[in-house]
Amino acid sequence: MLSCRGSAAGGGTGATAPPGEKLNRRQKGEDRMRKYGQGGRLEKVICNGCGKKLVVEDGIVREGVLSIDHVWDYFSEKDGEIHHLDLCESCCDRLAGELRIPVEVEEQTELL
Ligand SMILES: [Zn+2]
Repeated sequence: MLSCRGSAAGGGTGATAPPGEKLNRRQKGEDRMRKYGQGGRLEKVICNGCGKKLVVEDGIVREGVLSIDHVWDYFSEKDGEIHHLDLCESCCDRLAGELRIPVEVEEQTELL
């Protein structure tokens, strides 16, 4: 069984926006998948995989979500771009099922 619990290693899964309207759109913050309210409190998270709205209460996502914030570096073709994406648990499992090499899973010994 594969699951996506644990940390995202920041793999650049193909969440590529069509070239052109990329950079500006992202900075406006209107149609981002994460929405923050007054004081930077998280209000809304949408799964990039299926568009599902995840449950957010008191600024915290209350269900399984894989969040990736990846800074592309010099060795990529996206040097200087930061990609953000959120995947709900079922999208995560679905994508993990398509991987040739299974996700590495270990039990967390120190609970937060
Ligand atoms: Zn999803």
